[in-house]
Amino acid sequence: MDWLKRFLSGRYGTDQLNIALIGVSITASFLVSFFRNPILTLVMNLPILVALWRMLSRNITKRQRENERFLQWGADLWAKHQIRKQHKKDRQLYFYMECPNCKQKLRLPRGKGKIHCTCPKCKAEFDRKT
Ligand SMILES: [Zn+2]
Repeated sequence: MDWLKRFLSGRYGTDQLNIALIGVSITASFLVSFFRNPILTLVMNLPILVALWRMLSRNITKRQRENERFLQWGADLWAKHQIRKQHKKDRQLYFYMECPNCKQKLRLPRGKGKIHCTCPKCKAEFDRKT
C-alpha cells in the first residue's frame, strides 16, 4: 500500500464541489440511462471525471478557490430562492399600488375592507378599498 500512500500524498482530496459533481453525474446518468445513448452517457459521466481530476490535483490553493466559489454560488442561489418564496407569500397578504400624490410604491394589506392610508413619503391621505 506504500505506492498508494505515495501516490495520494500532496493531492487535494475531496470537497463539497466534488461531492456535488459526483451527485450530478450519478443523477444525470440515471436519467439518461432510459435513452440508451452512449454519447449522452459519456457526457453525463464527465462531472465524475472532473471530480476525479480535482481529487488528484496537486494545485491545492486553486482547488480550494474553486470550492469557495461553488459554496458562494450555492449560498447566493439559496438566498434568492428565499426572497422569491417570501414575495410569493407576500402576494397573498399584500398588494402594491402607487401613492396618488407622489407615485411612491406602497404595500397595502389585502382583504381589510376600506382603509384610510397615509403615504409615508408625502403624508398624503386617501381611502382605498382592499
Ligand atoms: Zn405619497
